[in-house]
Amino acid sequence: MFGKFEHIGVAVKDLKASIPLFEKLTGSECYKQEEVESEGVITAFFKIGETKLELLQATSDDSPIAKHIEKRGEGIHHVAFAVDDIVNEMEKKREEGYRLLNEVPKNGADNKLICFIHPKDANGILVEMCQDKH
Ligand code: ZN
Repeated sequence: MFGKFEHIGVAVKDLKASIPLFEKLTGSECYKQEEVESEGVITAFFKIGETKLELLQATSDDSPIAKHIEKRGEGIHHVAFAVDDIVNEMEKKREEGYRLLNEVPKNGADNKLICFIHPKDANGILVEMCQDKH
C-alpha cells in the first residue's frame, strides 16, 4: 500500500531560473540540489507543508527529462508516493500486472530508493514509489 504523497516532480529547462520562481511562488526556500548521474538530472527540492516539490533539469539530451520537455514542454513529470518496503511493493505491483520501468530499485535523489510505474498503467501519470534508505 502507498503511504503519503511524498513529492511531485516538475521538469524544467533551467534550474537557475526555476528555483527563484518556485521560491517566490511557494514561500519556501530550496533546501537541496543534487545531481543523479544515472538519471541524467540535477534536482532541486522544496519542502511544502507535509510534502515536497522536486524540480528536475536534464544534464544531457538523452536524459528522460530532456525527452519529456521535448515532447510535452516543461511541467509535471511524475508524482511520488512513499512506501515502507520498495522491494515488496514492486513485487506486489508486478503480480498485479503493472509495468515497472525498472526491475530492481534504483538510487534516487534525496536518499531514496525508487521505482517508476508505467504511465500507461496509471491514466497517463508517471508514478514513482520511493523508500527512505536506512
Ligand atoms: Zn521524484
